[in-house]
Amino acid sequence: MALVIIHKFGKTPGISLGELAEELGSAFQVPVSAGAPQPLPPDGYDRHRHQYSAAVFIQRLLQIKERSPMDQRSAVLLGLTGADLFVPQLTFVFGLSDRRAGAAVVATSRLRPEFYGEEPDQAFFGERVLKEATHELGHVFGLPHCGDALCIMHFSNSIADTDRKGPGFCRKCRARLAELGIVGN
Ligand SMILES: [Zn+2]
Ligand SMILES: [Zn+2]
Repeated sequence: MALVIIHKFGKTPGISLGELAEELGSAFQVPVSAGAPQPLPPDGYDRHRHQYSAAVFIQRLLQIKERSPMDQRSAVLLGLTGADLFVPQLTFVFGLSDRRAGAAVVATSRLRPEFYGEEPDQAFFGERVLKEATHELGHVFGLPHCGDALCIMHFSNSIADTDRKGPGFCRKCRARLAELGIVGN
C-alpha cells in the first residue's frame, strides 16, 4: 500500500494541507498525511532567473526520505512550494516528478489568480493546486502524459491547460492506474 506525505517548502499561504491530503487521498485511495514544514533550499535559487530549480526540491525530498523512520522510507513524498520553479529547458514548470525517487513537487505561485491580474479566489486556487498535485502524483505512480486535453494527466503548458483539464483521470489513465495497483477517481 502506497503512502503519500506532503511537505511544504517555505511559505505557501492559503493552502490547507489537511484538506489537500484528504482530497488526494480520495483521488488515489491511498493514505496521505502532512509532513514537517521545510525551509526553501538556498542552493536551489538561481539569481539570474529569480526562480528555484525544481530538481533541487526533488533532491531535498530524497534526503528527507533517507532521514525518515523505516516505515516511511517507501512513501511517496510530495513537496509544495510558493517559490517559482524551473527546469533548464523551460521558462517555468507547475511541477516536477521523479518516479524512481518516488517524489514530486508542485509550485503554487502561478496557480494563483492574482498571478494573472485576476481577483484572489481561494476555492479556485485550491482546485488548481489539487489538479497539479494529482497530475504529479500520477507520474510518480507511473502514468505518462495523456493526449486527452480533459484528463488530469494532460501536460499543462499554461494555466488555461490546467483550468481545462481534470480533476479526474480519463478512462484509459484510470485503467492504467488500476493495473499499477492504484484506484484513481
Ligand atoms: Zn506532467
Ligand atoms: Zn488520460
